[in-house]
Amino acid sequence: MEKNLWQNYSDEEKKSVFEFSDEYREFISQCKTERECVKFAVEEAEKRGFKSLDYLIKNNIKLNPGDKVYSVNMNKAIALFVIGKKPIENGLQIVGAHIDSPRLDLKQNPLYESQGFCMLDTHYYGGIKKYQWTALPLALHGVICKKDGSTINIVYGEGDDPVLGISDLLPHLDKKDDKKDFNGEDLNLLASNTPEKSVEKDKFKTFVINLLKEKDISEQDFLSAELEVVPSGRAKNYGLDNSMIMAYGQDDKVCAYTGLRALFSTENPEYTCVNLLVDKEEIGSVGATGMHSKFFENSLAEIMNLCGQYNELSLRRALQRSNTLSSDVTAAVDPNFSTPFNVETDAHFARGISFNKFTGHRGKYDANDANPEFIAKLRKCLDEAKVGYQMTEMGKVDQGGGGTIAYIMANYGMNVIDAGVPVLNMHAPWELTSKADIYEAYKCYRAFYNLGEN
Ligand code: MN
Ligand code: MN
Repeated sequence: MEKNLWQNYSDEEKKSVFEFSDEYREFISQCKTERECVKFAVEEAEKRGFKSLDYLIKNNIKLNPGDKVYSVNMNKAIALFVIGKKPIENGLQIVGAHIDSPRLDLKQNPLYESQGFCMLDTHYYGGIKKYQWTALPLALHGVICKKDGSTINIVYGEGDDPVLGISDLLPHLDKKDDKKDFNGEDLNLLASNTPEKSVEKDKFKTFVINLLKEKDISEQDFLSAELEVVPSGRAKNYGLDNSMIMAYGQDDKVCAYTGLRALFSTENPEYTCVNLLVDKEEIGSVGATGMHSKFFENSLAEIMNLCGQYNELSLRRALQRSNTLSSDVTAAVDPNFSTPFNVETDAHFARGISFNKFTGHRGKYDANDANPEFIAKLRKCLDEAKVGYQMTEMGKVDQGGGGTIAYIMANYGMNVIDAGVPVLNMHAPWELTSKADIYEAYKCYRAFYNLGEN
């Protein structure tokens, strides 16, 4: 049978695929940072009757089956719950994705001047090919936190705004054309080219400092700022056939969005369902907002308490008896780079959501290796829901490698498998996905949430 899903879709199914991808394209155009994703998730959740965990705790409001709750962690991670009919200690159905993406961050002392330009110094975040971030329109997204306790939200370089960017050398003067030569310390934004007339020294930097003053921002305020440099502009439909999406940050916001939408479509499930959207995966899942933090466990304890079901043993049982889809993207076979791939066993566009039994590298080192008993149950669930899926690896045996949040969830002794959308250009400023795979991921997470038996 032809594995390409477009071959078998009915007209009606195609319509659903395109409608869903239009909504996704709007989300991924707006939400480029973890904070923007959390804000989106909270707004959409509240429209659908989700209540803030903080509010419920403060007012000591009890929770019942069917109730919907969200818990926000420092505006950069969120867990959303739909309470199931069964006691929580019977286990949860968890779909977990990450909402941070590779990018450049402004340094805490970013402003300096050079050769008649005011420059902004950056420190890259996550695994990037540095040369890909030059000669591109870039935008600033983030926050500046001030001493008076206020926060200024920044989005600069979108819509009709002027953009920023990092210059690259013309080929005439770059004979070696060695992309690898690019150095992290060379990733500086050209921010401004106007001198301040009234001063003799640092004219170009002073001009920008005066501009910022008008917005009530001082140079010292960058000390307590988190400003992310991301590609400017909206996501695009892609292909002569319009079958794909090109967007920044699809690793892993494509899995975040599909998981969130699946949870929003879940009413009165058997088991308590969770959509977990975490930060810091790209730098090792560390820190208070990464998967290694106790945030999820603490939120679950609070929710069990409001359900009248909390004790330490019940909490541990709930975690151990859970099932998790670690929903993170995987690498799709690239027709321009066949060498690193095994085309027989790697993921292909438009063959559906991609399951990786294990990730890791070179002999499965550091891998979460999912149990076949669990995979068999998933196969049944996916086949019944007519979900298009593929069981894949990431690259040739001695080439591939990668990690997700899977192994961290597995530390609780629960069943975990990686399941996500195949991506081309992964970690590049503009990543590519198939609309068919996005839709099948949504269908997969929805079916998983509605499982009746753990
Ligand atoms: Mn990822
Ligand atoms: Mn990644």
